[in-house]
Amino acid sequence: RAKEKGKNNCQFYTREMNASIEEKLVLLEGLRNALDDGQFRLVYQPKVELHSGRVFGVEALVRWEHPEQGVIGPDRFIPLAEESGMIVALGEWILRSACAQNKAWQDAGLPPLCVSVNVSPRQFEEARLVERVRQALDDSGLAPQWLELEVTEGVIMRDLQQAVAKMAQVRAMGVSLSIDDFGTGYSSLSALKSFPISTLKIDKSFVRDLGRSSGDEAIASSIIGLAHRLRLRVIAEGVETEQQRSFLRENGCDEMQGYLFSRPLPPQQLAALLSAPAMRAA
Ligand code: C2E
Ligand code: MG
Ligand code: MG
Ligand code: MG
Repeated sequence: RAKEKGKNNCQFYTREMNASIEEKLVLLEGLRNALDDGQFRLVYQPKVELHSGRVFGVEALVRWEHPEQGVIGPDRFIPLAEESGMIVALGEWILRSACAQNKAWQDAGLPPLCVSVNVSPRQFEEARLVERVRQALDDSGLAPQWLELEVTEGVIMRDLQQAVAKMAQVRAMGVSLSIDDFGTGYSSLSALKSFPISTLKIDKSFVRDLGRSSGDEAIASSIIGLAHRLRLRVIAEGVETEQQRSFLRENGCDEMQGYLFSRPLPPQQLAALLSAPAMRAA
């Protein structure tokens, strides 16, 4: 009986694996042309100051409008783009588009925002990253203080010394850096103090159960305390409820991002949100 069950399980897993390998191949094949075909687009999620409710920035998040499969989220294709090396070209497109979009909003008279761009490991390690950032700023005309790069702890810890040197070059240009998904990676606290960053972003897995889990509350408030002791700002991602927001505000978190305030939006909707009278008054 057990043997039979084991065999079934085995077949089940094999079928699952084949499906995922097949899916991977199909997506990988599609990725090759997607950039040239203009199938990627960026959506922007507001970042809000907790004490004032003011929107001070947006995070650019990439979407793939697949001709057959509809909209595909980055968790499904960024890892593939990383593996295949395609992330370098895609990442450059993302960087350039985000800078150009931000400049266009400024030119249209919107209150100036900082745009945050996610940079994945292979992209960060690439020799020409700093040059590409400078080029994206030059070509768009966006001033460097309106751009931030979000990197994860994993990216930095792969080669600590080199990563810190590269971060310093980015900082020297006037572009900000933040650590994304903080608390889920492996950065040591001693390394953290040498990072030329301005913000820590609390991972949404610690935000989800605020108000319900004393463990997550302890982690979130410790990250807030740690950030402030290191003279960094701290933002929470994935804020969905009023309860989470109150906890964060009471515990001194500076900023938040999440569905409670707004989902990631296409550029026009973001501009409409920010030019609504209520937003301008706030
Ligand atoms: P991330 O940078 O940590 O982005 C946060 C993710 O949480 C986004 O998912 C966002 O849409 C989602 N989110 C925002 N508010 C809420 C909320 O209130 N509740 C919940 N449950 N989720 C929320 P998304 O857009 O699917 O992106 C997933 C990940 O893919 C990102 O995580 C980032 O690591 C990566 N990614 C997205 N865009 C890019 C990009 O342009 N370049 C690179 N290299 N990676 C990207
Ligand atoms: Mg991010
Ligand atoms: Mg994150
Ligand atoms: Mg994340």
